[in-house]
Amino acid sequence: MKRTHKTEVNIDLERTVTEAMDIDTGASASPCGENGAAEAEKADVDASWMREALALALLAEAAGDVPVGCIVVNQDGAVATGFNRREAALDPTGHAEMVALRSAATKLGRWRLSDCTAYVTLEPCFMCAGALVHARVGRVVFAAADPKTGACGSLANVLQDARLNHRCEVTKGVLEQEAGALLRRFFRSRRRDCLPEKERLPLK
Ligand SMILES: [Zn+2]
Repeated sequence: MKRTHKTEVNIDLERTVTEAMDIDTGASASPCGENGAAEAEKADVDASWMREALALALLAEAAGDVPVGCIVVNQDGAVATGFNRREAALDPTGHAEMVALRSAATKLGRWRLSDCTAYVTLEPCFMCAGALVHARVGRVVFAAADPKTGACGSLANVLQDARLNHRCEVTKGVLEQEAGALLRRFFRSRRRDCLPEKERLPLK
């Protein structure tokens, strides 16, 4: 009787190839360029301001609003801060960016904010992206992307639309894990609050 392990061998081979392909998909670290040190310093500064914006997001959460924070800075340091106050103020325009932009314009005594950078923990929506363009904000740095309402790369790219009279420099993804975790915790908690008490799992 002729015996063969062809099928088993083929399965093993397939598995080996698949595993090898999986391993090969890992990207290797890219070497630092000439401006590596300057870029690293800029990234540190961005992360530092974004941490401040995340702290503001916590204030929104404490007041029952979706945790989003924004801080506007210029060469002299922090100019103004804001956090989402839509529920607290019953204001559909009470997004963190709108609050921070209004405050920055008042403090600087001008509506043109071209020397400013806005750090925001969530990708700005159409309204906020429009306001950032109207305010001529020089640079916008955001953390988590928002595939449902984001207008800075997700649904549109309002901040860099060539048809508009102003375009912002954009940096995305700064502390996105932290910002995303904060939002997930908030929405998980909200869903949990909708359940009867005995069905609620403990929050991690
Ligand atoms: Zn918004």
